[in-house]
Amino acid sequence: MGNNDITGSPPANAVSCDIMPQGTLSVEQAQQRILQDLSAIKHTERANLHNALGRILVSDITAHFDVPPHRNSAMDGYAFASTASTSEQPLKIVGISFAGKPYQQSVQTGECIRIMTGAVVPDGCDTVAMQENCQRDNDWLTLNSAPKTGSHIRHPGDDMPAGERVLNAGRKLNAADLGLLASLGISEVDVIRRPRVAFCSTGDELKSIGEPLGVGDIYDSNRYTLHGMLKQLDVDIIDMGVVRDTPEAVEQAFTSASQQADVLITSGGVSVGDADYVTATLKKLGEVNFWKMAMKPGKPLAHGRLGDCLFFGLPGNPVSVMATFLLFARPAILKLRGEQLSALPEYPAMSTQVLKKAAGRKEYQRGICTQDAHGNWQVTSTGIQESHMLRSMSQANCFIILERETEHIAEGDTVKIIPFAGLL
Ligand code: AMP
Ligand code: MG
Repeated sequence: MGNNDITGSPPANAVSCDIMPQGTLSVEQAQQRILQDLSAIKHTERANLHNALGRILVSDITAHFDVPPHRNSAMDGYAFASTASTSEQPLKIVGISFAGKPYQQSVQTGECIRIMTGAVVPDGCDTVAMQENCQRDNDWLTLNSAPKTGSHIRHPGDDMPAGERVLNAGRKLNAADLGLLASLGISEVDVIRRPRVAFCSTGDELKSIGEPLGVGDIYDSNRYTLHGMLKQLDVDIIDMGVVRDTPEAVEQAFTSASQQADVLITSGGVSVGDADYVTATLKKLGEVNFWKMAMKPGKPLAHGRLGDCLFFGLPGNPVSVMATFLLFARPAILKLRGEQLSALPEYPAMSTQVLKKAAGRKEYQRGICTQDAHGNWQVTSTGIQESHMLRSMSQANCFIILERETEHIAEGDTVKIIPFAGLL
């Protein structure tokens, strides 16, 4: 990572930016630069199944016994040995097999047992008839029709045979996987350690909730939106509070964060104002790229390292902080936690109205998407798109993506949207 990438030449595989002003990066270029040298955290830890949801497996999991372990019934009914005359002659009911309480004797030709779903099918039986297809008269059973031999029997290992790999290293464990591990009797797995993500707000105008607001003060909202978005990523969160706009305070916060965190995210103080110390401090203590982004909201972005700690200096405006977190910090954190990367999913939707923007920056406008009566997605803007208007993020359920050179979207045109589900 070099100093101030803005003047450096782009890597060979960079996306073309020939129509952008000198020193400006596209969203895709910045994402690529952020991710290109990043790999998953090397540290692993053991997680029990209650703690393993969403974690990334370090090693393959192989079934060490058959699941299910025994032949068992798929139905409540009757089990017997099928013969040519099964459906003509009544079968004598000689016993009963419950799930967890098997019938212990063997079953002879001409006999059957009552059997419940999940109960062991005893030796001598090869078929189960559903009880709905049987007539019972005391200890005698008549079948309405002859079931196919082998019906309604589940075989050992037909879910997971012993010796077969059932989960691969790198797998992000979902709820089904947790049940699968449990059915193999596995209570703990090795997973990649959660990234530790520290974050703070910078700004002399910022007050914490509970403090009175003086003239010019505002409450710090970015720490709460960042906290919420980090919660969605299942990382260890270190809230470093508000940092004042002095070089000393910023330096102290950066030093402290770099000693405990894998990632530090700041908001504010990254522009070129007189009280913006983030980029200068990063340059002093570590490595920094300062990028002007061809996007709206969110123009300035600082990216770099403080030793082993990855750094994101997000802009201060509340909508910008959310957009740049989702587009730049989030994919990096996911990569650190070992996830296979996928870009935020984009879907087509029909714009219900005219949308306008200036050419030159890719816009992430706030929208409300709904499905029409035919199941087609349509999207409507939340209105004024200023980057200090956090309410637009609260009202929206998606970003509307308007490409860099687009200036006009007509009513009925198809646009791309990024739904917020699972992100905020
Ligand atoms: P800055 O990037 O520091 O110049 O801040 C840009 C704008 O975002 C200013 O209007 C700040 O007051 C506002 N801002 C910065 N940090 C926060 C925060 N943590 N919560 C709410 N607004 C903020
Ligand atoms: Mg500021």
